[in-house]
Amino acid sequence: TYVVIDNCIACKYTDCVEVCPVDCFYEGENMLVIHPDECIDCGVCEPECPADAIRPDTEPEMESWVEFNRKYSELW
Ligand code: SF4
Repeated sequence: TYVVIDNCIACKYTDCVEVCPVDCFYEGENMLVIHPDECIDCGVCEPECPADAIRPDTEPEMESWVEFNRKYSELW
């Protein structure tokens, strides 16, 4: 899965949401999040993010961000 990290805070662009083929972006409190079970790992959103806030969960120390993304995307 891909996850959104805190670089997203204060970013006003939603290019990522527009390109996602499965609509798995959700609004958190002050940033967007990706539902980790809905993301199909296509990677299309990553280069669209001007804040470099979208990362694959294969990067180091992404576990807590996966849980954060899950928590906020499941509020909807
Ligand atoms: Fe959506 Fe693909 Fe990005 Fe996952 S990797 S959030 S499916 S655009």
